[in-house]
Amino acid sequence: MTTKDPEATTGQKHIEGATGPWEIVIGLEVHAQVTSSAKLFSGASTSFGAEPNANVSLVDAAMPGMLPVINRYCVEQAIRTGLGLNAAINLYSVFDRKNYFYPDLPQGYQISQYKQPIVGEGVVEVDMPDGSVVEVGIERLHLEQDAGKSIHDLHPNMSYVDLNRSGVALMEIVSKPDMRSSEQAGLYVSKLRSILRYLGTCDGNMEQGSLRADVNVSVRRPGKPFGTRCEIKNMNSVRFIRAAIEYEARRQIDVIEGGGVIDQETRLFDSVNGVTRPMRSKEEAHDYRYFPDPDLLPLELDQVWIEDIKATLPELPDQKKKRFIDEFGLSPYDASVLVADRDRAGYFEEVAEGRDAKMAANWVTSELFGALNKQGLDITESPVKAAALGQLIDLIKDGTISGKIAKQVFEIMLETGGDPAHIVEERGLKQVTDTGAIEAVVDKIIAANPDKVEEYKAKPKALGWFVGQVMQATQGKANPKTVNELLKKKLDG
Ligand code: ADP
Ligand code: MG
Repeated sequence: MTTKDPEATTGQKHIEGATGPWEIVIGLEVHAQVTSSAKLFSGASTSFGAEPNANVSLVDAAMPGMLPVINRYCVEQAIRTGLGLNAAINLYSVFDRKNYFYPDLPQGYQISQYKQPIVGEGVVEVDMPDGSVVEVGIERLHLEQDAGKSIHDLHPNMSYVDLNRSGVALMEIVSKPDMRSSEQAGLYVSKLRSILRYLGTCDGNMEQGSLRADVNVSVRRPGKPFGTRCEIKNMNSVRFIRAAIEYEARRQIDVIEGGGVIDQETRLFDSVNGVTRPMRSKEEAHDYRYFPDPDLLPLELDQVWIEDIKATLPELPDQKKKRFIDEFGLSPYDASVLVADRDRAGYFEEVAEGRDAKMAANWVTSELFGALNKQGLDITESPVKAAALGQLIDLIKDGTISGKIAKQVFEIMLETGGDPAHIVEERGLKQVTDTGAIEAVVDKIIAANPDKVEEYKAKPKALGWFVGQVMQATQGKANPKTVNELLKKKLDG
């Protein structure tokens, strides 16, 4: 691992939970479903939620004599992803058969890539909340077929099989064992998801299983060789990934400190009880007897095609983050929050264009994202459009309303989707900047409260009380700066 934060290499900094002198070592195998309307080796549709077995061609059902035909678009998607992960694209790669029996795998083998994957080593930068960056190495990315799905809960003594998913293209993205805490692993998955969504190569929908991870965990004393790993299979939530790592590391530490040894095994996470349980040990591990699929030629790529794909890559989160820092003067953390989602980044840019960018970032990240999260809305469904939020900021800037009133206006905008200038006008929320009007209120309050005036003379902090009174009397509409100046002048004078 290389890292820009020297402390991160020791793993001491980002470890949560009580792992004491132990260091957690994590490597992830992420399965990402390729965004493509057809499957990897057949023309059948990949649409989610179709009637069971509606999207199954003769190839997907493994009828005798059927031949796979590579889907060029899926290959393009894998290349695009490799480029987005700063990875080497292999001009020569090979499809192998991974042999095993399972009822949801009619071929009796999965077509995958083993020794010669389409994408080699790359790197993903993970932004930590403290501003440090952890670089997680990518070992490889290969293309493979997904399996079907067995259904055991529709009949008391029969199982059904749905082959809609059979043959859908997956990218398996294998990281190096470069993560040192559950937090890093969770943020790595989020970052990877963000990159894939920017690229348009995987929709990242973890609930629908479009993105799932096998999580490898071991523990060691810092500086010592890696310990034996356990692999927790098929995790489809960042929260569960973090919880599973925490539990699994603690379990391994307890075993070792109790004088035991860790058996390399595959485990499953029980999210109800928050524990991992053994699924199979290494002794029971499959011998897949990989060999090159004789039905498929090796994949030979043309460098020109790769360059063409490279030329169409969108601005990716890291580049956008850098630009937001340079162009708008944002903090690295604010920038990384804003760029995590492409639509959110676009929204922010529209608000910030030609305005105070820090103010725009504050409104977007705290007020708007907070409100959207509360209502469970996506940015594209926001009742407050970027142009309207920009106008609200303009009203604060030109002194029409105070920041405090702006929050009220924002609430109304959220409810009604209304236009800020119109709301301010209609509800009479304009800031009173007329010094004469404010002065009259100030005089009245000073005259009515001689005891408070005495208090102020002894304790200038009591000014706050007067400010509060004036703001109350003007329904928060008095310009706070004018109020403060006038009060000081009168009370000190
Ligand atoms: P397999 O197919 O046997 O699971 P892979 O090489 O495909 O093996 O994947 C191994 C994964 O486990 C990689 O993500 C790697 O980073 C990770 N890994 C390897 N060694 C360790 C270790 N000691 N602790 C934690 N993770 C590890
Ligand atoms: Mg594995």
